[in-house]
Amino acid sequence: MTAFLCSLALGIQTIEEHMNKFFVPDEIYEDRIAICKSCVYYFKPTGTCKDCGCFMKIKARLAPMECGQKKWQKTTKIEAPDDLPQEIIDEILDMWKDLKTGRAKDVKAKKRMIETYNTIFMTNYSPGTNCGSCISTCFDGIKKLYNKYNG
Ligand code: SF4
Repeated sequence: MTAFLCSLALGIQTIEEHMNKFFVPDEIYEDRIAICKSCVYYFKPTGTCKDCGCFMKIKARLAPMECGQKKWQKTTKIEAPDDLPQEIIDEILDMWKDLKTGRAKDVKAKKRMIETYNTIFMTNYSPGTNCGSCISTCFDGIKKLYNKYNG
């Protein structure tokens, strides 16, 4: 195989790996949806979960998502880049004072945490979300980074 074809194959593999990190295959998606549809929190008219408020058609397709009631789990984690720019590290260290109790101090602190998480992990959580599992994912990610860069 030529160097060009090798790099092309590698590129395709990387895209597939990338997709698998973000989206679950049909079987897992259908399992998740079936669990939701038989759950007391599922609100059939809108296809949303009364626990997290998310649209399940979307949430169930995303690999790093999990049910807030632990009825189904995430299938992958999104890893932060190894070398974050100093400005982002400073932002994480500074925001921690408003997060360290395990709960964002106020709406502004929650928004800051989610926006920073989105920037680092290339996700698209709504800064105004009240979804417990979404907030918890953002919190855990920022906490891990705080522990890595603090001291
Ligand atoms: S995400 Fe969990 S709590 Fe919400 S409807 Fe699905 S199974 Fe139920």
